[in-house]
Amino acid sequence: MSGSFGARLGRAIADVKHSERARRVLLHPVLTRPGYWFATAAGLLWGGVLSGFRLRSRGGVIVAAHVPKWAFGRGGTTIGAVYVTCDSVDDDVLEHEAVHREQWRRYGLWFIPLYLLAGQNALTNRFEIEAGLERGGYVRGLSSRELSSREPKK
Ligand SMILES: [Zn+2]
Repeated sequence: MSGSFGARLGRAIADVKHSERARRVLLHPVLTRPGYWFATAAGLLWGGVLSGFRLRSRGGVIVAAHVPKWAFGRGGTTIGAVYVTCDSVDDDVLEHEAVHREQWRRYGLWFIPLYLLAGQNALTNRFEIEAGLERGGYVRGLSSRELSSREPKK
């Protein structure tokens, strides 16, 4: 049953994608903004408690650092306006997370199913691509020279 529910949800979202009017209604700030606030409140609670309320406003996000690694995915997770991490706080990463905060603002709680449907592979997930794969540390270590040497030889 859960499989068919997932398939139906996927189809419903695909239908919305093709209906400009449905999109406008579902992505109206009256609907999405409370979701963003709710996510931010949840992020403040989660990140606040686990960081001992060491919250800092940096680079367009509220950073909850020194959080144990079991409490978030990858190098860190942005929930609403709150970036929860252990120690991944360089400027590039914060710029990347600020884009995720903007995505939360745009989509509200729709961001959760939309992000999951975009796939677990960050390299093909449109929200990670929009936030910047390099800044997010997904393609770190590959210099532009190394990337160009991967192109097929003519
Ligand atoms: Zn990201």
